[in-house]
Amino acid sequence: MKSSDVIIIGAGIIGLSLAIELRKKGVSVLIVERDEPGREASHAAAGMLADAGDEFPAPLVPLAHASARMYPEFVHEIEDESGGKVDLREHGTIVLSCHGEFPEGAEPVSTQRLKSLEPSIEASSLLLTAGENRAPSEICAGYLHERSVDPRELVAAALKAARHRQVDISSGAEVKSLLVEGGRTIGVQTDKAKYTAQTVVNCAGAWAGVIPPFEVPVKPVKGQMLAVVEAPRLQHVIRSEKVYLVPRGDGRLVIGSTLEDVGYNKQTDVNTLQRLFEAAVELVPGIAKSRRHEAWAGLRPGTPDELPILGATAISGYFIAAGHYRDGILLAPVTAALMSDAVTGKNPSFDLSPFSATRF
Ligand SMILES: Cc1cc2nc3c(=O)[nH]c(=O)nc-3n(C[C@H](O)[C@H](O)[C@H](O)COP(=O)(O)OP(=O)(O)OC[C@H]3O[C@@H](n4cnc5c(N)ncnc54)[C@H](O)[C@@H]3O)c2cc1C
Repeated sequence: MKSSDVIIIGAGIIGLSLAIELRKKGVSVLIVERDEPGREASHAAAGMLADAGDEFPAPLVPLAHASARMYPEFVHEIEDESGGKVDLREHGTIVLSCHGEFPEGAEPVSTQRLKSLEPSIEASSLLLTAGENRAPSEICAGYLHERSVDPRELVAAALKAARHRQVDISSGAEVKSLLVEGGRTIGVQTDKAKYTAQTVVNCAGAWAGVIPPFEVPVKPVKGQMLAVVEAPRLQHVIRSEKVYLVPRGDGRLVIGSTLEDVGYNKQTDVNTLQRLFEAAVELVPGIAKSRRHEAWAGLRPGTPDELPILGATAISGYFIAAGHYRDGILLAPVTAALMSDAVTGKNPSFDLSPFSATRF
């Protein structure tokens, strides 16, 4: 029977980042992962580090800003400890809107500047598509200083960094239930063995809600994506009302996504992918000649109020860090910092009460 100070359930970006942070504090950590580490939502994500205020429920805004600020250092440390390279892009995001609806903080961009920032964007097609009777010169574009990251590189490097820091990882072991004795956590029961620890943190993403005996309303929200190659080389992330385009350093262009309430279903659908592709071609006609490289779907961990669940539960020694919905890649650094404080009995630097598991 394995024993450690803390057991983390789930080796997605949230579990891995928290494990690294806890090791820095000298805590011994075992991650129990049902499958291969980092192959679920954290593998499927677009990797936009979008912290613009009005896209978030109010309590999440300060955490989103803090996490965005932490990112360069977070990635730098992971690169250092893993020896791997993570594609963190600093070019920013261009938001296109026919109705002039932009996130707070977006700088207006004239049509002329838009052409020089991203020559392959066909801005006028946005107005035509929306049936707007306006001149192309009136197209609305905004610029945001947001970064993006390749989540697959990030997760792969975080896994190496965690191993480098002597995080123990048990893959292919599914946690079936928490073990509780006299109201206190004593470990987890998996399909293979029992593991003991005084503290357990549930970082099981879209599956976090179904680990007995403490169930929380986390539900999967499916997102389909595709990646193309040999497309026009974009520098910026481009977002419109219908689609987003996220360029990667290796030449892939990621096109996303959908928000589907269909349970634990990760199948892709040809018609949906075609709709996303066509919306991308409307923005950047050169994409029509690109080659499809890959299509996939992932499950975002959603909650009823779209806020994550962070902190202690009614069971002593049992914590949850899940429900990061559309922003778990962005929120990984701040989650790791806050949860490592909570788990080691320090006061977290943000009030975690809006994210409490007891709010449901
Ligand atoms: C299409 C799509 C696009 C996205 N785009 C962005 C974006 O641009 N920016 C952004 O910030 N976020 C984005 N997200 C959201 C982000 O991917 C998630 O919020 C984040 O990855 C959640 O991380 P996690 O570690 O909680 O979950 P996951 O990465 O899903 O990891 C959970 C892990 O727990 C394991 N597990 C589950 N149950 C058990 C069990 N019982 N026992 C053991 N292990 C278990 C799973 O196998 C999995 O490895 C996107 C998500 C999707 C699907």
